[in-house]
Amino acid sequence: MNKPVNPGQDGIAALLQGARSFREREYREPESLMPGLSAGQQPKAMMIACADSRVDPALIFGARPGDLLVVRVVANLVPPPDTDSMDSGVMSAVELGLKILAIPHLVVCGHSSCAGVRTALDQALRGVTPDSVPARHEALRNSDPDACCLRDWTSVAEAACHEVIAGHDGLSAEELARHAEQRSILKSLENLRANRWLQDLESSGALTLHGWWFDIASGDLWIADPETGIYSSHAPS
Ligand SMILES: [Zn+2]
Repeated sequence: MNKPVNPGQDGIAALLQGARSFREREYREPESLMPGLSAGQQPKAMMIACADSRVDPALIFGARPGDLLVVRVVANLVPPPDTDSMDSGVMSAVELGLKILAIPHLVVCGHSSCAGVRTALDQALRGVTPDSVPARHEALRNSDPDACCLRDWTSVAEAACHEVIAGHDGLSAEELARHAEQRSILKSLENLRANRWLQDLESSGALTLHGWWFDIASGDLWIADPETGIYSSHAPS
């Protein structure tokens, strides 16, 4: 009698095969990096990226082990310092990267078709204002605990969504989402700079902040101008 097929097993088997291939490549070849990295790390850059399965920074940017310190959270958000919720995970990683490892570049990297920003945009389009967020969170906790964490977290992006809605009449849903995704990245950079120690690092020239947005459909990378916040395409040549 055949065993019932568990559709999840194919995915797990592929992951286990991936671990075997990684070990072959990164531990046994002459140019393997991993054994040497057991002594420590000195990444060239740090990136705050989305948890989305399609936008793995190491794959997109060709990073090797040890190159890139990555924090992946839904919608690549950095909450403002006065947020009394679950923001310590992101900022603890930022402290590790910038204070302890002295990484000279920090990139906030968003992307197209971001479900996290979409959640925030939907709330903003319903007319939910940032002032009402705490009361709504309380209601969510009481009535819909499963939805609470995602909406709590993505409410960080709602201020950017409100600005985009107010400033852009007549855009398609796709264009509105792109503007919200890109504006939200700039907000996260503002929230990083609201930490005095981080601002001091930037002012001294020891740290450069970057805002990037990756277009899944085309593979183009859009880079925010550090002065104006206007994005321009950095299409691979
Ligand atoms: Zn996303």
